[in-house]
Amino acid sequence: MFAGQGNPMSAHTLDLAAVTYRYRGGQVALTDVSLSLRTGIIGLLGPNGAGKSTLMRILATLARPTSGQVRWNGADVASRPDPLRRTLGYLPQDFGVYPALTAREFLAYLAAVKGLHSRDIPARVGRCLDQVGLADAADRRLGEFSGGMRQRVGIAQALLNDPALLIVDEPTVGLDPEERMRFRHLISDLAADRLVILSTHIVSDVEASATSLAVMAKGHLLYSGEPEALLAQAAGQVWEWTVPAERVPELRKTLVTSSSTRRPDGVRLRVIAAARPSEDAVASAPDLEDAYLWLLNRAGGA
Ligand code: ADP
Repeated sequence: MFAGQGNPMSAHTLDLAAVTYRYRGGQVALTDVSLSLRTGIIGLLGPNGAGKSTLMRILATLARPTSGQVRWNGADVASRPDPLRRTLGYLPQDFGVYPALTAREFLAYLAAVKGLHSRDIPARVGRCLDQVGLADAADRRLGEFSGGMRQRVGIAQALLNDPALLIVDEPTVGLDPEERMRFRHLISDLAADRLVILSTHIVSDVEASATSLAVMAKGHLLYSGEPEALLAQAAGQVWEWTVPAERVPELRKTLVTSSSTRRPDGVRLRVIAAARPSEDAVASAPDLEDAYLWLLNRAGGA
């Protein structure tokens, strides 16, 4: 029948319509979130408390929206969760491992829990360990693993059922820079034919790989679309301004700055502002960090 890239079966759709979520205590974590997600890597960006984890728990069918609807390939997930559950891989934020088990034992255990046929488990576990670059460490105890290796085990368990929808919640928290980089590459490699949703509050986690972005703050969706379109919106509102180091604390009180770099002639600030902050400030093309900050600041959610 159909094969390869053009396969219509691989073009999955995940649509949210006016999703609102209220915790029992009354805390509203999501307000009217509407989003259409397609195959590729979706970077879900937002500061702490934005509602990212709540949204991911809803998409992983662990929570149901208070109102609004989630549809997977057109079908309502609340009334028919199974089609999504069957093809879901989820790495929650608080993923824990059993330190006394080897990576292979742990994954085989989870594969059994997930209902894979026992005859398929060894090969499937081997394949997933391979995919995350842990084939050589497969028979070592998880207690000896670094944080980055544990996160890769987390991804391996999420891949056991070869999911079409892979949800990863703040996966780079606690990783050192090298592990973080390695993890980003791994996520990029997994995206072919999958819908991958990666939540983070760190722009550089998704800068290189995200094909689309959803930015949230305080439960509201501020932006969804391609990164390039967000950059275009922030164009003309980013300035580079080199100032004497002693002026920085005072300027920081009134200016929104996305970065500051010490230079021989002072401190170079990247300032987000609708108008040139000073005669000697120079216009600069926004990068994603600038554009994200511009968006949060505009919404008053930074
Ligand atoms: P993020 O993942 O972006 O940091 P969360 O989804 O964890 O955001 O939280 C969104 C909001 O919901 C926050 O205001 C948070 O305090 C609140 N919240 C999260 N979990 C609970 C809970 N179990 N009970 C009540 N409020 C919660």
